[in-house]
Amino acid sequence: MALIVQKYGGTSVGSIELIRRVADKVIARQHQGNQMVVVLSAMAGETDRLLRLAHEMSPEPNLREVDVLISTGEQQSVALFGLACQAKGVEAVSILGFQARIETDEFHGRSCITGIDPVRIQNELDQNRIVVVAGFQGINGSGDVTTLGRGGSDTTAVALASALKAEVCEIFTDVDGVYTTDPHLHPKARKMRHVSYEEMLELSSAGAKVMETRSIEFAMRYGVRIHVRHSQKDEIGTIISEEEEAMEDRIVSGVAYNKNEARITVLKVPDMPGMAAKILGAVSDAGIVVDMIIQNTSAGQEGRNTDFSFTVPQTDFQQAMALITQVAEEIGAERVLGDDNIAKISIVGVGMRTHAGVATKMFQTLANEGINIRMISTSEIKISCVITQKYTELAVRALHDAFELDK
Ligand code: ADP
Ligand code: ASP
Ligand code: MG
Repeated sequence: MALIVQKYGGTSVGSIELIRRVADKVIARQHQGNQMVVVLSAMAGETDRLLRLAHEMSPEPNLREVDVLISTGEQQSVALFGLACQAKGVEAVSILGFQARIETDEFHGRSCITGIDPVRIQNELDQNRIVVVAGFQGINGSGDVTTLGRGGSDTTAVALASALKAEVCEIFTDVDGVYTTDPHLHPKARKMRHVSYEEMLELSSAGAKVMETRSIEFAMRYGVRIHVRHSQKDEIGTIISEEEEAMEDRIVSGVAYNKNEARITVLKVPDMPGMAAKILGAVSDAGIVVDMIIQNTSAGQEGRNTDFSFTVPQTDFQQAMALITQVAEEIGAERVLGDDNIAKISIVGVGMRTHAGVATKMFQTLANEGINIRMISTSEIKISCVITQKYTELAVRALHDAFELDK
């Protein structure tokens, strides 16, 4: 008998009819002799709707109350799923984050899971019940409901799979698996059979939202094998696992994009020790995560001035601008510029470690399309460029074609 953790995303449980269909699928797997733990997201659009309500009530809503509100999306879907199974004569029980003992840190809206005690889930499984767990939510040390950040049900599923020592964690979604790029953006995107944790981590953090980044960090740390597949089909999707497992022998394996960042530039920062720490300290103290950072002093300007640019999530842009404007004044910088009309385009591949010239090919491809590169950053297996947002689709398609990812 195998213990299987399955997660179904919002579009897969977006209506009563779809929830019924998912219930049928889960029941069929149970009948094959498996113990089933199902993690659900809120029904499609529900989390956005609840967030809109919170912002209608208050321009800067209290994060604790927002978590109380938006965690109800998942509460609805698990209860409906429980009812769907019971209507089919199958025993199922819905469990919320606190009942599943999904413990998190204190940060509302983007909490990290710090521990899980799956004893309740195990007891329910021992009584032959299908256990359906609300994704995206946990409980902090003060006993309050927390949420894990957008897309966080993936993390709930992977964390539960690890805590329960499940055979596999199946992520059911609205595409057939992990593709070489977003299949909704480029018709030539190709489904990959395997992706390494490392590549998936880079693809996710670069914007491939098919898997939430933290879920992959978790899977990598605890060796959870993930199978990403289509919720309406029975076909094999993509396996995310260790690199050794017959990975495709490619230099670049995927292209990702992220339109949810904004760039902040501080002009004429005094070129002296301590400035970068002051600027970034102000944003990190506010819990804002900085992604790309660039500082460069023009020749002849050493010891005088430098320009300093970095990117932050768009949701934190206004707060970061306010903080940085204050810091700029304190340190005597000239001005702060903000731009949220940007996109980050990234190419990812383990083969980059051993091949030269990949960056040049990327830059040349963008140049051939007349796309100006505004920031660049690299890691061992990823190269990212910030461009003007309206060229996103063009850039993704051109890079996908240039690196022949459809072959
Ligand atoms: P769910 O609601 O099931 O969690 P998401 O919307 O979070 O689903 O993630 C699935 C979406 O991710 C797809 O519809 C697709 O548009 C997008 N996506 C982005 N990059 C990729 C990629 N490389 N492979 C597959 N899907 C991708
Ligand atoms: N419902 C949450 C969201 O929309 C979590 C998830 O779907 O994974 O972000
Ligand atoms: Mg998702």
